[in-house]
Amino acid sequence: MSARARRRSNRAWEDKYRDVWRWDRVAWGSHCVDCYPSNCPYRVYVRDGVVVREEQAATFETVEEGVPDMNPAGCQKGASWSQLLYGQERVLYPLRRAGERGEGRWRRVSWDEALTEIADAMLDALQESGAESIVRIGTPQGGVQNMALAGAVLSRLGATVTDIQAEINDFNPGLYATFGRFDPVPSSDDWFHSELLLIWANNPAYSAIPWYHYLVEARYHGSEIVTIAPDYSPSAVHGDQFVPVRIGSDAALALSMCRVIIDEGLMDEAFVREQTDLGLLVRADNGRFLRQRDLQEGGSESVFYLFDARAGQVVEAPRTLDLGALEPALEGSYHVAAADGAAVEVVPAFVLLRRRLEDYAPEDASALCGVHPETIRDLARKVASRRTRILLGWTTGKSYHGDLMERAICLVLALTGNWGKKGAGTRSWAVGMFDGMLFWSGKPQPGEEATREMLQRQQEMVDAQRSQDPTLTDEMLIAELGYMGAHLGGTVPAALFWYYHCGYREVWNRSDWGDPSMRRTFDEYLREAMEKGWWQGSVQPPPDTPPRVIFEIGGNLLRRQRGGQRLLLRHLWPKARLIVSVDWRMSTTGLYSDIVLPAAQHYEKTNFCFMAPDVLNLTLSDRAVSPSGEARSEWQINLMLAKKLSERAKARNFLEITSVLGTPIRLDTLYEDITLGGALADDDAVIDEMVRDTAVTGNLPPGTTLETMRQKGWMRFTGWGRSPMALAQASDLRPNETHSPFRWQTEKKQPFPTLTRRAQFYIDHEWFLEAGEELPVHKEAPAQGGDYPFEVTSGHPRWSVNAMNMTNRIILGTYRGLPTLYVNDGDAAARGIKDGRDVRVFNDVSSMVVQARVTPAVRPGQLIMYNGFEPYQFEGWQDFSNVEPGMVKWLHLAGGYGHLRYRALHWQPIPIDRAVRVDIAPAEDGAASH
Ligand code: SF4
Repeated sequence: MSARARRRSNRAWEDKYRDVWRWDRVAWGSHCVDCYPSNCPYRVYVRDGVVVREEQAATFETVEEGVPDMNPAGCQKGASWSQLLYGQERVLYPLRRAGERGEGRWRRVSWDEALTEIADAMLDALQESGAESIVRIGTPQGGVQNMALAGAVLSRLGATVTDIQAEINDFNPGLYATFGRFDPVPSSDDWFHSELLLIWANNPAYSAIPWYHYLVEARYHGSEIVTIAPDYSPSAVHGDQFVPVRIGSDAALALSMCRVIIDEGLMDEAFVREQTDLGLLVRADNGRFLRQRDLQEGGSESVFYLFDARAGQVVEAPRTLDLGALEPALEGSYHVAAADGAAVEVVPAFVLLRRRLEDYAPEDASALCGVHPETIRDLARKVASRRTRILLGWTTGKSYHGDLMERAICLVLALTGNWGKKGAGTRSWAVGMFDGMLFWSGKPQPGEEATREMLQRQQEMVDAQRSQDPTLTDEMLIAELGYMGAHLGGTVPAALFWYYHCGYREVWNRSDWGDPSMRRTFDEYLREAMEKGWWQGSVQPPPDTPPRVIFEIGGNLLRRQRGGQRLLLRHLWPKARLIVSVDWRMSTTGLYSDIVLPAAQHYEKTNFCFMAPDVLNLTLSDRAVSPSGEARSEWQINLMLAKKLSERAKARNFLEITSVLGTPIRLDTLYEDITLGGALADDDAVIDEMVRDTAVTGNLPPGTTLETMRQKGWMRFTGWGRSPMALAQASDLRPNETHSPFRWQTEKKQPFPTLTRRAQFYIDHEWFLEAGEELPVHKEAPAQGGDYPFEVTSGHPRWSVNAMNMTNRIILGTYRGLPTLYVNDGDAAARGIKDGRDVRVFNDVSSMVVQARVTPAVRPGQLIMYNGFEPYQFEGWQDFSNVEPGMVKWLHLAGGYGHLRYRALHWQPIPIDRAVRVDIAPAEDGAASH
């Protein structure tokens, strides 16, 4: 052999290495899960029908000159998701339990056998208890396949769907109470415009990995970053200032900042007069807003008044934010003649706010929140002088008095004129802007013409309503359709389902775990709310009708539920004759189900992710490979079930049921009806129909189709369309600008969708007055779980999207790979707890065991249990939810008041998991976990 040939032969390993990086094709991919806002475009590489790797596409274009683009969107979970595609927990075939629920013994069955059992159980339920006894647990997982397609047959039958807002408790009740919307969402690139960014009740270093670079870039651009948190959080590490706040005292801090802003003359008075209700007059005798009905016999409930300082008289408040020549007084006391002739004293709501803030001088507030008075003053001055965004997370909403914290935080923004302009405001979550998802199922036939006709009909309804009040915005009118629809059931507030069917009644009536300011029992408040019709249509199934068939499609109820397995396995599980889990992996809920159906995973089906304002792109997750084993997309599973239901209905001669509207629903033609005569039976066909419809509604450029989406993998939205959450963004969507919500309020003077048409800080609902919460106030969190010395906080884990990535071997290698409880080093030493050893966590509810992670980053008295771990990762499958009571705040049952009414995804009680009280001790055997 020549020297050259020898050299070539010695380098054969290079070819082998090159061979590793060969692929046959590349597809667009993403991960349509609740890593909100998701939408990271990926390239997925396939070889011999197997996904061999994925990587960030990094193909986003620059939107606004001078603002960094969104590349390279992605995270470590996404970069290794293909490991789970072929992981050991994949469900590859329909499974039927062979032992008791949760025993872990399974039998592989055919699709036909599984679907026949499910269809018969559903038909039994329809015949014996009604459609509402079939319950789908709401979940945000799974993109369009799950949100729009997986439940099509259940929705057609009129099954109950629990509202995801309570299921995931990512609601911001204080934002909703203030703005009539909980969901202002700036695009992530708009963070770049902020001069001051407050990371408050949030940990974006864990929860917003793809967008975190905007914090770094904003800082490089001159922004200052302040982190306000009880612990020295992973996000605090990268900020300019860390403000440690005592757990649950954020309202005291915010209210004290408000006090400083007012006292030091830093308030933006014009903004407050125009944008807020603080200039509206309130009766001194009963604390209610002065209304037209007070002044005139038969007057309106929703016409309010202000004192015009220029004219020196009480006048009707405009129904929009356009004050014209009016100058609402913020101070003073006035008298009006009531309808019965009596003189009534009235004061601007701002006067009452000033009185409330008397309790929050920085020195007093410091005693409550633990922040030094000078730091409070300094923070207040900074916010008042800079374009400020508060990067709020969802920790506040998960706190018992989180609504008060959020209302106080919004007040800081209001007093400083900090919304409705780039770089200012706050944030939550929203989905929408893919209206085709809403239209396809209601169309009589496929095609764009049918969509245009539906749009026309909806517009006629909206216009008819607007003819009665021209100041009503599209957002208000479409929301009103949502309020009306809520009375018909279907999607229902999960809390009422839990109360009547899942054993929470007893827990919520524990006065020692509840709010000490409650004057009555939880039962009494609920009874009054029901008697007044505030939750009409919201109790499904009715209290005397047990749930019969339960579907969990892509979610993981037994991990996620506060108070979790302890209550659900005891109260809900025995009532259900059949529990069906549809998933690509075996979750804890799957392990306790009767039947598990295998769903296709991300790279195995055509799908679209959330349509969120954060990214303003529709992102395609395409079918790169065929589904593993016998897995099917959610749409195909749904259609197989529809066919089987019709087959079994015919065999049982049970051919029709009646809808809640009294119209007939045929059971023998479900497949044909859902697929519009078979035209939309294919995944690509139904999704293409949605894309085309979405182009008709204006969310996407004209002519966009699934095929054009396949060219680029993503498409920037061109308009908000018709969905309520999209319209709630209330700003023009411009092709070459970042998005900041509420510019329609500041620039066009459009009203907020609240009772008073203003950002509403004064809530004169009778229950709010009873609770002393008509204005924001600080209240201590109740002793949920009992009188114990530690308060537990939580948060989104760094290592997983919920529990989905907890078994990914690559990710497991990046941390301890098991659940841990973060304990302050001083607390640990005082109790003899060592890092890496097990601790027992206990309270009046129950106990659980977890490994301790000792760190000075956690404040004394605080414990952090990041969420997302599967219960089966804990000893005896008892995870942290085992010691959570799962309380809700009684005041969120209030209704019948302007915007404080239920519609899907909005105002409702949501479960609390922050500041649960526990104690800890070394576990008895002291052994390391696992
Ligand atoms: Fe992006 Fe979510 Fe995928 Fe991570 S898991 S890369 S955040 S889409």
